[in-house]
Amino acid sequence: MINIVNTDITYPELNRNPRILLGPGPSMVHPRVTSAMTAPMIGHLDPCFLQLMDKTQELLRYVFQTKNRVTIPISGTGSAGMEASLANFIEDGTPVLVCTNGFFGNRLVEMAERYRADLSVLRCPWGKAFTLDEIAEELKRKPAKVVAIVHAETSTGVLQPLEGLADIVHDQGGILVVDAVTSLTGINIPVDELGIDVCYSGTQKCLGVPPGLAPFTVSERAIEVIRNRKTKVSSWYLDLSIINAYWGKDRSYHHTAPVSMNYALYEGLRMVWEEGLENRWARHVENARLFWDGLEEIGLKPFIPEAQRLTTLTTVKIPSGVNDLEIRNQLLKVYNIEIAGGIGDLKGEIWRIGLMGYSSRKENLLLLLAAFKKLLNR
Ligand SMILES: *Cc1c(COP(=O)(O)O)cnc(C)c1O
Repeated sequence: MINIVNTDITYPELNRNPRILLGPGPSMVHPRVTSAMTAPMIGHLDPCFLQLMDKTQELLRYVFQTKNRVTIPISGTGSAGMEASLANFIEDGTPVLVCTNGFFGNRLVEMAERYRADLSVLRCPWGKAFTLDEIAEELKRKPAKVVAIVHAETSTGVLQPLEGLADIVHDQGGILVVDAVTSLTGINIPVDELGIDVCYSGTQKCLGVPPGLAPFTVSERAIEVIRNRKTKVSSWYLDLSIINAYWGKDRSYHHTAPVSMNYALYEGLRMVWEEGLENRWARHVENARLFWDGLEEIGLKPFIPEAQRLTTLTTVKIPSGVNDLEIRNQLLKVYNIEIAGGIGDLKGEIWRIGLMGYSSRKENLLLLLAAFKKLLNR
């Protein structure tokens, strides 16, 4: 028979000594957000909940810097936002261009294939960003109705510049889809100013909210694409026209909103509002710089040159002769710190260290630097 008392292996210990989450997500959650989640359950059509939905939409417009009417949290993690961003705009044979330079770009490719796009894939080496010319040239060779790209590639630590890209995409009759999962509220991404048509993120990275919702915004140009569809969206759950009947005026039931997650998102967004977007970006820059200086002092090398490096996620070359797994195990066991290893092409070569949202604090990065120093005998 199972002894319930003795098999309770995690929660008491984690409550006494919460993990310091410095990986690529989930990042740490502020106690205010955690406690918001414990508010009593209410119906998803309760007037209080409807009011919370309205306020959440306003705050989401603030963080996306957009006037887009359709700005909502999709139920599901960041990948649900990614899937909604493709599913609603792709029909059988829709010409789609995905630009990929990492693991999450490749996920966009995988999804676009499943929705049976007429798919072109533009690749550049992991650790590099695309130039506008490279994308423009590819679109000249083969125009696309949907162009998708990742702003902050969490697998490599590269920032993709987006200035001017929307014009190129629009001029040849397409819409621009941007993954802002590891940038939203950590790095400036002014959706309207950049002309982005569809942008999605996740709650668990720079927003500092548990994984479970995907902030999502759609331009009028992209809504028009949905209006002109000849076939139904292949995913029922992610069909924006019926989701938006709940978030819009009709308030008609589609699926039960994850109520507690929406409490959490609302509180997380309120905290962004209180801090101010500009201050929040500046905090991420300041802490990243402090971290990079500390890395240099102990002889660790960032994988990405500073000009293209994300401030929210730093990739560090694993020094030769160092046992990747052993160091990460020690960090977790001795210092209670989580960082991540490389994935895909960069497995075993880099560490991925996130300083996002509530995790982006001096005491966290200083502790990690001290731990590295000790474990690596620097
Ligand atoms: C984390 C991440 C995703 C996926 O988000 P999940 O919450 O894991 O589903 C997508 N894109 C990027 C760039 C990410 O970092």
